[in-house]
Amino acid sequence: MKRYVIIGSGVAGISAVAAIRSLDQAAEINLVGDDPHGFYSRPGLAYCLSGEIPEKQLYLFSQKDWQQLNVRFVKGRATRIDPQAHQVDLGQIGKLTYERLLLATGALAVRLNAPGADLSGIVKLDHFEDARQIMKLGRKARTAVVVGGGITALELVEGLATQGVEVHYFLRGDHYWSNVLDETESAIVEQRLEEEGVHIHYQTEIDQILGRKGRITGVQTRRGQQLRCDLLAAAVGIKPRLELAQAAGLGLERGILVNEYLQTSDPDIFAAGDVAQVYDPLSGRSVLDSLWAPAREQGWHAGANMAGAAIPYSNPVALNITRLAGLTTSIIGAVGASVSSRTDDLVSIARGDSETWQALPNTISTQSGSDVNHLRLLIGEHSLVGALLMGDQTLSYPLQDLVREQVDITSIRESLLLPNASLGNIVMDFWTHWRSSHVSQE
Ligand SMILES: Cc1cc2nc3c(=O)[nH]c(=O)nc-3n(C[C@H](O)[C@H](O)[C@H](O)COP(=O)(O)OP(=O)(O)OC[C@H]3O[C@@H](n4cnc5c(N)ncnc54)[C@H](O)[C@@H]3O)c2cc1C
Repeated sequence: MKRYVIIGSGVAGISAVAAIRSLDQAAEINLVGDDPHGFYSRPGLAYCLSGEIPEKQLYLFSQKDWQQLNVRFVKGRATRIDPQAHQVDLGQIGKLTYERLLLATGALAVRLNAPGADLSGIVKLDHFEDARQIMKLGRKARTAVVVGGGITALELVEGLATQGVEVHYFLRGDHYWSNVLDETESAIVEQRLEEEGVHIHYQTEIDQILGRKGRITGVQTRRGQQLRCDLLAAAVGIKPRLELAQAAGLGLERGILVNEYLQTSDPDIFAAGDVAQVYDPLSGRSVLDSLWAPAREQGWHAGANMAGAAIPYSNPVALNITRLAGLTTSIIGAVGASVSSRTDDLVSIARGDSETWQALPNTISTQSGSDVNHLRLLIGEHSLVGALLMGDQTLSYPLQDLVREQVDITSIRESLLLPNASLGNIVMDFWTHWRSSHVSQE
C-alpha cells in the first residue's frame, strides 16, 4: 500500500486526491489542511461579499463526494518537511510518512507596507474567515479605503459599496489594472464604478495609516492629505506560500519550480496550483497563475503522476471569465498592455490573474465597440495570441478556440486591421467556417 501526503485542501490538493484515488484504490492518502473550512470555492467569496450567494453555496463537495475520495483529512499545519526521512512534521499532531508528497499550499495576500499596517480594521480577502470579517466590519463602517489592483480590489470595492459603505478607491497611477487592461478598458471600469458612487483617487498612495487605541481612524497619502475611514481593504498582490519548500531546499524562483510532470527538484515531491511556477509554452518561460481551472488541472496531473501515470501537463492558454464593475469580461491568452503605460497597483500577480497576461506579445492590437460591448484582439503574424471581451459574451467561446488552437488567421488578418473593421462579425464568420471544417475532420 502506497502512502501519499497532500499539503493544502484547496482545489489543487483535492484534485490530486481524486486522481490518485482513481488510479489506486488501496493507497493511504492523508490530506493536511490548516483552513478550518476545508475545501470551498475561493472565487465564490466575492459573490458572498456582494450578497449574491449564501455561504453554504461555497462548499463544492457533498458528504458522498468525500466518502468516494476515501481520504484522511488532517486538520492542522505542516511545519516542516524532511525529504531524507520522507516525513512531514505537523507540530503537536505528530509526523506523517510519505512515499510521494504534494505541496498545494496556495498563496497569501501581500501585506501592506506602511506604518500602521498592524492596526485593526485593515482587511484582505484570502479565506472564508476574511470574507466574514469584512461583512461584519462593513455593517458598522461608514467609510472605507481600498487599495490595490486586479480583480480582488474591485471585488472589495463593490462588496463594500453594496453594504452601503462610502468607498474611496486609491490608484497609484492613472488607470485601473494597467498591466492587463488598456486605457479604454480601464476607463470603462472606472466610469461604471463612479456611477455606483465610488470615489476614485488617481496617483494616490498611502504614506501612513492613522489610528487610535489600536484601531484605524484614517489614512494619510504621500501628498500629505488625510482621509478619515473606519476600514482599509488591501489587494496589492499575492505571494505563493513557499516556506516549507524553501526550508526543504527545493528549487524555487517566484514559486516552486516544477517540470512537465509537476515534479519539483526532489523526484518524490510534487507541487501544483497557486504555489507552483509552471512552464508556459506560449511565452516560453515559467509562470505563476492564480486561476482556479489551471490549479485544478495541475492538481489532477500531479496526483496522477504521483501514482505513476507519467502524463505531461501543458499550461493551457490563460483564461478568466470574470466580472469587472458588473461587466462580464473574458481575458484570453496574452493581452498585456504596453510596458510604458504601466503603473502597477500590484507588487506581484493578483487573484484571478496570470503572469502570461502581463507579457507584451509581439503583436498588433486592434479594438472595436462601445462601452458595454468592447473587443480587443492581439494579432500575431499568423494567429490571434490574445483577446479581451467586455459585455456581450457571444464571441468568448470562438475566441478561446482561435487563441487556444493557434488557428491560422492569414485569410482575415488584413480585414481585421482595417480602420473601423467590424471585428466581431469577421471573427464570428471565420470561426463558424473553421469550426465546421474542424468538426467534419474530427
Ligand atoms: C477572492 C478571490 C477571488 C478569486 N477570483 C478568481 C477568479 O475570478 N478566477 C479564477 O480563475 N480564480 C480566482 N481566484 C483564484 C483561485 O481561487 C485560486 O487560483 C485557487 O483557489 C488556487 O488553488 P490552490 O489549491 O492552489 O490554493 P488554495 O485554494 O490557496 O489552497 C491552499 C490551501 O493550503 C492550505 N495551506 C497552506 N499552507 C499550509 C500548511 N503549511 N499546512 C496546511 N495547510 C496549508 C491553505 O490554508 C489553503 O487551504 C480567486 C481567489 C480568491 C481568494
